Amino acid sequence: MSDCIFCKIVAGEIPSSKVYEDDEVLAFHDIHPFARVHFLIIPKAHVASLADCAPEHERLLGRMLLLAPRLAKEQGLDSGFKTLINTGRGGGQEVFHVHIHVFGGGDPVRRS
Ligand code: ADP
Repeated sequence: MSDCIFCKIVAGEIPSSKVYEDDEVLAFHDIHPFARVHFLIIPKAHVASLADCAPEHERLLGRMLLLAPRLAKEQGLDSGFKTLINTGRGGGQEVFHVHIHVFGGGDPVRRS
């Protein structure tokens, strides 16, 4: 989608601090981290939110979720981390390209 900021990151039109990339998935550090480590895992293909995911996205969502512990460990979050998926305006979603927040480290994270 041409006006989607995360699609622009996928396309390399907006810079990002990359954590992981394969043919289907990209992970990059959040620009406004709310923990010492805070990155986002997104599908490269545009899907607006978790509520817009369909059965065809089952494998992709599973892959994204399974990347969370692996990447968290690589980022030094040995004692654990939080995951968050905001869905829809009422769920606090601001960027409408589905993403998993992964964050932790430093002071205890209160945001839930
Ligand atoms: P919220 O802002 O309430 O967490 P979302 O769940 O939609 O809403 O999260 C969008 C996230 O994307 C925010 O944490 C924001 O800091 C992050 N973000 C926005 N633009 C960029 C960018 N260019 N690079 C990295 N992260 C970004």
